[in-house]
Amino acid sequence: MKYAEVRNYVGGDFVDTDQEYIDVHDPSDGTVISRVPLSSRDDLDKAVAIAQRAFPGWSALPIKERVQIFYRYRALLERDIEELTALVTEENGKIYSEARAEILKAMELTEFACSLPQLTGGEVLEVSRGVECRIERFPLGVVASITPFNFPSMVPNWTIPNAIALGNCLILKPSEMVPLSANRIAELLAEAGLPQGVFQVVHGGREVVEAICDHSGIEAISFVGSTKIAKLVYRRGSANLKRVLALGGAKNHLIVMPDANQEMTASNVVASMSGCAGQRCMAASVMVAVSGTDHIIDSMVAHARAVVPGANLGPVISAEARDRIERYITEAEDAGATVLVDGRNAVVAGREGGFFVGPTIIDHVTPDMRIAQEEVFGPVIAIVRARTLDQALEVENASPYGNAASVFTESGATARHVMERANAGMIGVNVGVPVPREPFSFGGWNESRFGVGDITGRGSIEFWTKSKKLTTKWNSEHGTNWMS
Ligand code: NAD
Repeated sequence: MKYAEVRNYVGGDFVDTDQEYIDVHDPSDGTVISRVPLSSRDDLDKAVAIAQRAFPGWSALPIKERVQIFYRYRALLERDIEELTALVTEENGKIYSEARAEILKAMELTEFACSLPQLTGGEVLEVSRGVECRIERFPLGVVASITPFNFPSMVPNWTIPNAIALGNCLILKPSEMVPLSANRIAELLAEAGLPQGVFQVVHGGREVVEAICDHSGIEAISFVGSTKIAKLVYRRGSANLKRVLALGGAKNHLIVMPDANQEMTASNVVASMSGCAGQRCMAASVMVAVSGTDHIIDSMVAHARAVVPGANLGPVISAEARDRIERYITEAEDAGATVLVDGRNAVVAGREGGFFVGPTIIDHVTPDMRIAQEEVFGPVIAIVRARTLDQALEVENASPYGNAASVFTESGATARHVMERANAGMIGVNVGVPVPREPFSFGGWNESRFGVGDITGRGSIEFWTKSKKLTTKWNSEHGTNWMS
């Protein structure tokens, strides 16, 4: 094992648990690099009790003081960017540039948190003679963030800086498949001066997630992961009267029009479907090709052939994920689709134990095929043919998901038509991965998001705080009016 066993980070220390441990793999060669505990309710209880003790002191600090920690944290992310990049690469398999981009994004998220004092100034108005109403925001208390495997650093940093800068004490439950970055984040926050107990990490899987949903000491939960588990967490957390925002899976459609710029579109679509090995909730999964786009598909094939497993394409997370993705491809082929570029059975010399799938383009997929409907989460794009733009929109709108949708066109009118009608929370025009950057908020629609609001940017302020409405009168008038 390259790394020691992962431990929970509770009360400012790394602590042991007597629970079962499972292996953590390097997906690029299949070797075991560490082990992670499957924490219990008791482990969570200890962390919640410590967070409850830390909360009064932390929340009493003015926000301008709290964000000072995050100025320092951002500097530490920058100082250690190479080490943090390597950690993401080892536990998740991403190639260097993708892993590094994740740390750069974590820095941008932290910059947003540093700007929160500018954004959270209260509202105040004299509502009647001498009577003033004001709104102030208060933190919720102890909150939890449950994160997926595909962004070991970025997704935890969607919630950590904002929730904590806004005065909460946060417990992170990272994916058990990628637990290493989370512990390094804990070390950096401590080095930045964050008081003990304000940020803690409890590792594990189903048991500890259920314990989070049930725990009476936890006020709010943010969850990012598959739709199946997002629904479970949303239902269970809400039933226990918590505020829950649960982001789920995706099936993102790109509509390609015949007037689209050939090379830009082909390279963007291939980058969107194959970047991070297709394991992004914003990845292109279905391309709806409107009649007259064969030349663009030809260029996509050429671009896909330049995406090489082990060189500029990382592995998927596990052997199970690889097998699942390959099954989707085989099933589509058996149902009559045409595999133009086939990523099955990819082997990287010297890393034969790695979980690689090559870039895959499948044409003539029909909307009733499983590959057109379900999240594949691999470097695969299914091309569905449509005669007209409105027929293409019908295909997009039929998806139960609603994270992202894009259109590639040179026509402003066509772009506007799609922006108004696509049934998704994040829309791109000539952009393959339409992730809004700070200060814009991230969040999908439909089965890609349960709960109200967005998880990052301005939207997160509402989620991580509660407002207090204060009405005061400080003058000596005796008269009353209709509201007093
Ligand atoms: P996942 O749902 O399997 O796991 C997410 C978290 O839930 C992990 O921390 C895991 O330990 C926990 N978990 C897993 N099974 C559980 C169970 N039965 N009960 C309770 N908790 C459980 O997701 P994943 O495979 O780690 O991540 C990939 C998924 O995340 C994809 O569907 C992807 O689209 C989605 N995702 C969505 C967004 C978004 O913003 N909408 C962002 C990133 C990833």
